[in-house]
Amino acid sequence: MMLDVSVLAGWIERLTGSIEREQEHLTELDAAIGDGDHGANMARGFKAVREKIAQGKSETPADLFKLVAMTLISTVGGASGPLYGTFFLEASKAAGDARALDLASLHTVLAAGLAGVRMRGKAVPGDKTMVDALTPAVDALVGDGDLRKALEAAAVAAADGAEQTRPLVAHKGRASYLGERAIGHKDPGAASSVLLFASLAQEVAELEA
Ligand code: ADP
Ligand code: MG
Repeated sequence: MMLDVSVLAGWIERLTGSIEREQEHLTELDAAIGDGDHGANMARGFKAVREKIAQGKSETPADLFKLVAMTLISTVGGASGPLYGTFFLEASKAAGDARALDLASLHTVLAAGLAGVRMRGKAVPGDKTMVDALTPAVDALVGDGDLRKALEAAAVAAADGAEQTRPLVAHKGRASYLGERAIGHKDPGAASSVLLFASLAQEVAELEA
Protein backbone atom coordinates (compact mmCIF):
# COMPACT_ATOMS: atom_id res chain seq x y z
CA MET A 1 0.00 0.00 0.00
CA MET A 2 1.12 3.56 -0.78
CA LEU A 3 0.28 6.61 1.28
CA ASP A 4 -1.29 9.03 -1.15
CA VAL A 5 -2.82 12.36 -0.19
CA SER A 6 -6.22 10.87 0.60
CA VAL A 7 -4.76 8.23 2.94
CA LEU A 8 -2.67 10.92 4.61
CA ALA A 9 -5.70 13.20 4.98
CA GLY A 10 -7.44 10.24 6.62
CA TRP A 11 -4.52 10.01 9.03
CA ILE A 12 -4.77 13.69 9.96
CA GLU A 13 -8.53 13.40 10.48
CA ARG A 14 -8.02 10.34 12.69
CA LEU A 15 -5.28 12.16 14.61
CA THR A 16 -7.62 15.11 15.15
CA GLY A 17 -10.23 12.77 16.62
CA SER A 18 -7.73 11.14 18.95
CA ILE A 19 -6.43 14.52 20.13
CA GLU A 20 -10.01 15.53 20.93
CA ARG A 21 -10.52 12.32 22.90
CA GLU A 22 -7.19 12.70 24.71
CA GLN A 23 -7.43 16.45 25.22
CA GLU A 24 -8.18 16.21 28.93
CA HIS A 25 -5.40 13.67 29.49
CA LEU A 26 -2.86 15.87 27.70
CA THR A 27 -4.00 18.80 29.80
CA GLU A 28 -3.57 16.80 33.01
CA LEU A 29 -0.04 15.80 32.03
CA ASP A 30 0.82 19.43 31.26
CA ALA A 31 -0.84 20.65 34.47
CA ALA A 32 1.57 18.43 36.43
CA ILE A 33 4.82 19.73 34.91
CA GLY A 34 3.85 22.69 32.72
CA ASP A 35 1.00 25.18 32.50
CA GLY A 36 -1.90 22.88 31.70
CA ASP A 37 -2.60 24.03 28.15
CA HIS A 38 -1.19 21.25 25.98
CA GLY A 39 -4.55 19.56 25.42
CA ALA A 40 -6.22 22.83 24.51
CA ASN A 41 -3.30 23.87 22.28
CA MET A 42 -3.39 20.63 20.32
CA ALA A 43 -7.17 20.53 20.08
CA ARG A 44 -7.35 24.13 18.85
CA GLY A 45 -4.62 23.54 16.28
CA PHE A 46 -6.06 20.37 14.84
CA LYS A 47 -9.62 21.69 14.80
CA ALA A 48 -8.29 24.48 12.57
CA VAL A 49 -6.42 21.89 10.48
CA ARG A 50 -9.65 19.94 10.00
CA GLU A 51 -11.41 23.08 8.78
CA LYS A 52 -8.59 23.93 6.37
CA ILE A 53 -8.53 20.41 4.94
CA ALA A 54 -12.29 20.54 4.42
CA GLN A 55 -11.98 23.87 2.57
CA GLY A 56 -9.59 22.88 -0.18
CA LYS A 57 -8.08 19.93 -1.88
CA SER A 58 -4.37 19.23 -1.42
CA GLU A 59 -2.82 17.73 -4.55
CA THR A 60 0.18 16.01 -3.02
CA PRO A 61 1.44 14.79 0.37
CA ALA A 62 3.70 17.86 0.41
CA ASP A 63 0.71 20.21 -0.08
CA LEU A 64 -1.20 18.51 2.72
CA PHE A 65 1.74 18.61 5.15
CA LYS A 66 2.36 22.26 4.34
CA LEU A 67 -1.26 23.10 5.07
CA VAL A 68 -1.04 21.27 8.41
CA ALA A 69 2.23 23.04 9.22
CA MET A 70 1.02 26.55 8.44
CA THR A 71 -2.22 26.03 10.32
CA LEU A 72 -0.49 24.71 13.44
CA ILE A 73 2.09 27.50 13.40
CA SER A 74 -0.60 30.17 13.10
CA THR A 75 -3.16 28.76 15.55
CA VAL A 76 -1.22 27.11 18.38
CA GLY A 77 0.40 29.34 20.93
CA GLY A 78 2.90 27.59 23.13
CA ALA A 79 6.02 25.64 22.35
CA SER A 80 4.27 22.71 20.73
CA GLY A 81 2.67 24.67 17.85
CA PRO A 82 5.88 25.84 16.19
CA LEU A 83 7.52 22.48 16.92
CA TYR A 84 4.78 20.34 15.36
CA GLY A 85 4.49 22.99 12.64
CA THR A 86 8.18 22.53 11.90
CA PHE A 87 7.72 18.76 11.89
CA PHE A 88 5.12 18.99 9.13
CA LEU A 89 6.90 21.78 7.25
CA GLU A 90 10.16 19.84 6.98
CA ALA A 91 8.17 16.70 6.13
CA SER A 92 6.50 18.69 3.34
CA LYS A 93 9.84 19.83 1.92
CA ALA A 94 11.20 16.28 2.02
CA ALA A 95 8.10 14.90 0.29
CA GLY A 96 8.85 17.04 -2.77
CA ASP A 97 6.51 16.30 -5.66
CA ALA A 98 5.87 12.64 -4.74
CA ARG A 99 2.25 11.62 -5.34
CA ALA A 100 2.42 8.89 -2.70
CA LEU A 101 4.84 7.59 -0.07
CA ASP A 102 6.02 4.03 0.51
CA LEU A 103 7.73 2.91 3.72
CA ALA A 104 11.17 4.10 2.61
CA SER A 105 9.97 7.53 1.55
CA LEU A 106 7.77 7.84 4.64
CA HIS A 107 10.86 7.22 6.74
CA THR A 108 12.80 9.89 4.84
CA VAL A 109 9.97 12.39 5.14
CA LEU A 110 9.28 11.87 8.86
CA ALA A 111 13.02 11.78 9.65
CA ALA A 112 13.24 15.22 8.03
CA GLY A 113 10.33 16.35 10.20
CA LEU A 114 12.06 15.09 13.34
CA ALA A 115 15.35 16.71 12.32
CA GLY A 116 13.45 19.99 12.02
CA VAL A 117 11.98 19.62 15.50
CA ARG A 118 15.41 18.85 16.94
CA MET A 119 16.99 21.79 15.14
CA ARG A 120 14.29 24.21 16.20
CA GLY A 121 13.89 23.09 19.81
CA LYS A 122 17.48 22.01 20.40
CA ALA A 123 16.27 18.98 22.34
CA VAL A 124 18.01 15.61 22.20
CA PRO A 125 16.63 12.27 23.35
CA GLY A 126 16.58 12.15 27.15
CA ASP A 127 15.60 15.83 27.54
CA LYS A 128 12.03 14.78 28.42
CA THR A 129 10.27 16.22 25.36
CA MET A 130 8.33 15.08 22.31
CA VAL A 131 11.72 14.15 20.80
CA ASP A 132 11.82 11.16 23.18
CA ALA A 133 8.74 9.67 21.50
CA LEU A 134 9.36 10.88 17.94
CA THR A 135 12.93 9.58 17.71
CA PRO A 136 12.33 5.86 18.38
CA ALA A 137 9.15 6.00 16.29
CA VAL A 138 10.93 7.37 13.24
CA ASP A 139 13.79 4.91 13.78
CA ALA A 140 11.28 2.03 13.70
CA LEU A 141 10.42 2.94 10.09
CA VAL A 142 13.87 1.99 8.81
CA GLY A 143 14.04 -0.83 6.28
CA ASP A 144 11.99 -2.09 3.38
CA GLY A 145 9.60 -4.35 5.26
CA ASP A 146 5.84 -4.25 5.50
CA LEU A 147 4.39 -0.75 5.93
CA ARG A 148 1.63 -1.81 8.28
CA LYS A 149 3.98 -3.77 10.57
CA ALA A 150 6.55 -0.97 10.56
CA LEU A 151 3.88 1.53 11.57
CA GLU A 152 2.68 -0.72 14.37
CA ALA A 153 6.27 -0.98 15.60
CA ALA A 154 6.63 2.79 15.34
CA ALA A 155 3.49 3.35 17.43
CA VAL A 156 4.77 0.96 20.10
CA ALA A 157 8.21 2.62 20.04
CA ALA A 158 6.62 6.05 20.48
CA ALA A 159 4.57 4.82 23.44
CA ASP A 160 7.66 3.24 25.04
CA GLY A 161 9.63 6.43 24.45
CA ALA A 162 6.91 8.53 26.06
CA GLU A 163 6.72 6.15 29.02
CA GLN A 164 10.48 6.44 29.44
CA THR A 165 10.22 10.21 29.95
CA ARG A 166 8.63 9.55 33.34
CA PRO A 167 11.79 9.16 35.47
CA LEU A 168 13.61 12.00 33.69
CA VAL A 169 14.43 15.56 34.68
CA ALA A 170 13.47 17.94 31.83
CA HIS A 171 16.16 19.92 30.04
CA LYS A 172 13.89 21.84 27.66
CA GLY A 173 10.55 23.59 27.89
CA ARG A 174 8.58 24.68 30.94
CA ALA A 175 9.11 21.39 32.77
CA SER A 176 12.83 22.23 32.95
CA TYR A 177 12.02 24.96 35.50
CA LEU A 178 10.84 22.25 37.92
CA GLY A 179 14.13 20.41 38.24
CA GLU A 180 13.67 17.15 40.12
CA ARG A 181 9.97 17.86 40.70
CA ALA A 182 9.34 16.78 37.09
CA ILE A 183 10.47 13.26 37.97
CA GLY A 184 7.64 10.74 37.93
CA HIS A 185 5.54 12.57 35.32
CA LYS A 186 5.17 11.69 31.65
CA ASP A 187 5.99 14.51 29.24
CA PRO A 188 2.80 15.86 27.61
CA GLY A 189 4.40 16.51 24.22
CA ALA A 190 5.76 12.97 24.15
CA ALA A 191 2.22 11.77 24.88
CA SER A 192 0.79 13.76 21.97
CA SER A 193 3.52 12.44 19.67
CA VAL A 194 2.33 8.93 20.47
CA LEU A 195 -1.07 9.91 19.04
CA LEU A 196 0.61 10.99 15.80
CA PHE A 197 2.05 7.53 15.20
CA ALA A 198 -0.78 5.51 16.70
CA SER A 199 -3.32 7.22 14.44
CA LEU A 200 -1.22 6.58 11.32
CA ALA A 201 -0.78 2.92 12.26
CA GLN A 202 -4.53 2.60 12.86
CA GLU A 203 -5.42 4.30 9.58
CA VAL A 204 -3.22 1.96 7.55
CA ALA A 205 -4.33 -1.14 9.49
CA GLU A 206 -7.95 -0.26 8.84
CA LEU A 207 -7.44 0.44 5.13
CA GLU A 208 -5.57 -2.85 4.68
CA ALA A 209 -8.09 -4.90 6.62
P1 ADP B 1 4.00 25.35 26.38
O1 ADP B 1 5.12 24.59 27.04
O2 ADP B 1 4.48 26.59 25.73
O3 ADP B 1 2.84 25.56 27.31
P2 ADP B 1 2.65 23.06 25.24
O4 ADP B 1 2.13 22.84 26.61
O5 ADP B 1 1.65 23.04 24.13
O6 ADP B 1 3.48 24.42 25.16
O7 ADP B 1 3.74 21.96 24.87
C1 ADP B 1 4.63 21.46 25.83
C2 ADP B 1 5.46 20.36 25.20
O8 ADP B 1 6.29 20.89 24.19
C3 ADP B 1 6.40 19.67 26.17
O9 ADP B 1 5.74 18.65 26.87
C4 ADP B 1 7.51 19.16 25.28
O10 ADP B 1 7.24 17.85 24.80
C5 ADP B 1 7.47 20.10 24.11
N1 ADP B 1 8.62 20.98 24.12
C6 ADP B 1 8.78 22.11 24.83
N2 ADP B 1 9.99 22.67 24.54
C7 ADP B 1 10.59 21.84 23.65
C8 ADP B 1 11.85 21.85 22.94
N3 ADP B 1 12.74 22.84 23.11
N4 ADP B 1 12.11 20.82 22.10
C9 ADP B 1 11.20 19.83 21.91
N5 ADP B 1 10.02 19.78 22.52
C10 ADP B 1 9.72 20.76 23.38
MG1 MG C 1 1.82 24.02 28.20
